[in-house]
Amino acid sequence: MRFSTCYIPTLRESPSDAEVVSHKLLLRAGMVRRLTSGLYTYLPLGLKVLEKISAIIRREMAHVGYQELLMPMVQPADLWKESGRWEHYGKELLRFKDRNERDYCLGPTHEEVITDLVRGEVRSYRQLPVRLYQIQTKFRDEIRPRFGLMRGREFLMKDGYSFDASVECAEESYRAVHSAYTRIFGQLGLKFRAVEADAGSIGGSFSHEFMVLADTGEDTLAFCRQCEYAANVERAEVACPSSPAPAPGPVVEKVSTPGIHSVEELTAFLGVPATGIVKTMLFSVDRSFVAVLVRGDREVNDIKLKNLLNAQEVSLADAAAVQRLTGAPVGFAGPVGLDIPVYADNELEGGTDYVAGANEGDAHLLHVDLARDVRIAGWADLRFIAPDDRCPRCGGSISLTRGIEVGHVFMLGRKYSDALHAVFLDEKGKEQTMIMGCYGIGVSRVAAAAIEQNHDERGIVFPPPLAPFDCILLNLDPRNREVADAAEDLYARLRAQGVDVLLDDRDERPGIKFNDADLLGIPMQLVLGARGFARRIVECKDRRSGVKGELPLDGMDDAFAAWAQTVRAGWEEQQGQS
Ligand code: ATP
Ligand code: MG
Repeated sequence: MRFSTCYIPTLRESPSDAEVVSHKLLLRAGMVRRLTSGLYTYLPLGLKVLEKISAIIRREMAHVGYQELLMPMVQPADLWKESGRWEHYGKELLRFKDRNERDYCLGPTHEEVITDLVRGEVRSYRQLPVRLYQIQTKFRDEIRPRFGLMRGREFLMKDGYSFDASVECAEESYRAVHSAYTRIFGQLGLKFRAVEADAGSIGGSFSHEFMVLADTGEDTLAFCRQCEYAANVERAEVACPSSPAPAPGPVVEKVSTPGIHSVEELTAFLGVPATGIVKTMLFSVDRSFVAVLVRGDREVNDIKLKNLLNAQEVSLADAAAVQRLTGAPVGFAGPVGLDIPVYADNELEGGTDYVAGANEGDAHLLHVDLARDVRIAGWADLRFIAPDDRCPRCGGSISLTRGIEVGHVFMLGRKYSDALHAVFLDEKGKEQTMIMGCYGIGVSRVAAAAIEQNHDERGIVFPPPLAPFDCILLNLDPRNREVADAAEDLYARLRAQGVDVLLDDRDERPGIKFNDADLLGIPMQLVLGARGFARRIVECKDRRSGVKGELPLDGMDDAFAAWAQTVRAGWEEQQGQS
């Protein structure tokens, strides 16, 4: 394509409302435009990137026996009522009525619709497995749409579903997608990791997330440096060493702690380490309240709490609720004498001499023995894993890193097939419930994540497989007839070799062309100007490494192919280092 006839509205300045680098660069590179909160138009170059990602997904899904279909985006409420999610999905589900006052929603995911389809068609075990997927726009009315394509309200998703006759077969369908995802993200040239994950509102028995590693990721993953264990911290189990039987400690004593609200202030004021402090956090769980105790230097994992209590909604209690339930302002809650269920993190078990809030303003208690002084409703793993924890599998050391969730595979089991009565007759003619799996990839989020992982101060550095073009050819002297002819000739020859080239034939200053080329992040840059033409050379630059060279204008075909090979090898080496 020729730049002069393409719609690539690049911007020199970063739009002020863009917070993260992928959002800024997608706007600046003329790949997307915002319509309103969480809604984006994909401009031609942005769409090309999404199509490249989709093509790789399609190839690999087909390879493991999944077929593409396309379901409606608008879904009838009746199906959601049948699955029970009309009540439970919450405000992310955009609901509306048609002209006949019937309830509908915009699809945030398609378990209900696909299960309805399959239950209507499949009668016998002979028709299983059914393995289907689609690539489609989803709508979720996110509380905080942000970061551009990273968390939109409308976004492009690949969602796949499997229906099997037995748990073993379902696990095979799941493994097939897991391996396909590993190849997809590998082929996209991304540094990524698959981690154990919480199943969230989709539900089901086990799941893995695929994370693109990037410091700007919203997720934190924990992985073992010795073994294969890797998990989202939402889910990572904390291995708790068993503690020795406690000796009885001194009786509880109240001390005055004026204006001391935080653990840091308390450690300084009392001269006790954070490990000797019990932090008491109050949570609103569905329609009641509970208290959760963790060591002073730890953080409560609200997802573990939600799973433990089998709750729909868990959130930190607000200041008014804390005041009402403890009789004290925030910062002084403690477990002794508290009138709501108290759950404690395993790590605290056996401790006999803790500092805790006194449920009274400006006061704390010393020598709290949780077994003696508090009625504990349950001991459980209730905190986030930390770098000083050991691997729950092998005892090795744990590292934490940031990631962006780009894919998620769930073993759903019978959750939806039971609710929607998706059954078949087995070999003996007996009715059985189908076993399901579901598998998502955030296609538009992959584009953003790739940029978060691959950029520099000059712009995007696209991994070659998802770049909108393989190569950009800058003609620095478009008014010079000879140079223009040579550029056109080179453009035609490269295309004949199967190289997807963007020819920058615009009547612009070289500086603007260089800046745009770097901004767009196309992996290979070729530069032809009057001076090079006189010497019969084309300058080349590897966008990733910045390494420049010269290629002979005569004999360009072979020289280009050899150079392209070194550019690709550089990428592969970098990816291999993750
Ligand atoms: P998150 O925790 O980020 O909200 P999720 O668990 O809700 O994600 P899934 O329901 O598993 O996500 O959706 C499948 C995939 O769709 C995710 O792995 C992610 O890549 C993508 N995705 C989910 N929500 C969004 C969004 N608001 N914008 C863009 N992509 C999204
Ligand atoms: Mg979500």
